[in-house]
Amino acid sequence: MLPFKLVYSDDYFLPIGSHVFPAEKYKRVHDRLLSTKVADATDFVAPHPATDDDILLVHTPQYVQKLKTGTLSAREELEMEVPYSPELVRAYWLAAGGSMLAADYALNDGVAISIGGGFHHAFPDHGEGFCMINDIAVAIRRMQADEKIRTAMTIDCDVHQGNGTAVIFAPAHVPGNRMPARPGFAANFADMARTRSASTDVFTISLHQENNYPAFKPPSSLDLNLPDGIGDAEYLAVLGNAISLGLDKFPQPELICYVAGADPYRDDQLGGLSLTIEGLKERDALVFRLAKAEGIPVMVTFAGGYAHKLEDTVTIHSNTVVAAKEIYEGK
Ligand SMILES: [Zn+2]
Repeated sequence: MLPFKLVYSDDYFLPIGSHVFPAEKYKRVHDRLLSTKVADATDFVAPHPATDDDILLVHTPQYVQKLKTGTLSAREELEMEVPYSPELVRAYWLAAGGSMLAADYALNDGVAISIGGGFHHAFPDHGEGFCMINDIAVAIRRMQADEKIRTAMTIDCDVHQGNGTAVIFAPAHVPGNRMPARPGFAANFADMARTRSASTDVFTISLHQENNYPAFKPPSSLDLNLPDGIGDAEYLAVLGNAISLGLDKFPQPELICYVAGADPYRDDQLGGLSLTIEGLKERDALVFRLAKAEGIPVMVTFAGGYAHKLEDTVTIHSNTVVAAKEIYEGK
């Protein structure tokens, strides 16, 4: 038995037909974790869908109304890049419920992983890039509304910038600033890093490939604009620096929401970084190790993953659970 919960439902499946987003990955990860005996059936808990009130903590009433009545414009549906259906709406409401449940379990157990979610391109009033509802933001706002946490930090390691999350938690639309060089940090860290004044209650960190979607990157609290083709060693150094800088500027967040995208992988169809499967597991371990050392609970969502071989995406996501097991077992 794992020392933490895995939040999962077969209904995480996104009914989007033939699509670059492999909607069957969630079930494949679930099955892999069982077949490799990383987890057993008792480690999984099933989420309930978020309520409309939960969704409205982040999203505008107008947008929620359009989703519930199927009245998105053609342009809005195009921008979402997934075909609208009432079943798809239900799947995103469930993903948000899953992230809320994972956040709740993380506060109890130190860590919890939703085998889904991470839809960081969803904005308050529209969806983008396969993302309809920003489940990460809904989970944070629910925990805050229930007074379970006051502050949170997002650590978004998907290869694409977390633009929706950045806007949702932005105190104001301010331009990013260059970072001064810091002693002990990777030599090129200052070239890649951009900071903005922190939101009072949620600090957003995004590590992403600069030359990739989204074209316009609204400032996160801390953005790391990575050059094309960056490999394991350099990525891990930058990630370690980014987290320590984040915790420096925003000490002791009460929850970390780790967005463990599988698409920084070197064989990803939509990514241009060069991390290996082993490097990605080390990335996960690094986040868990630092969070555990600081005593900060971590909630994990999966976000993107478009490897040429689906098996690789399944391995990368499954390894996130293995890394958590290795770090948190015998805590
Ligand atoms: Zn992505």
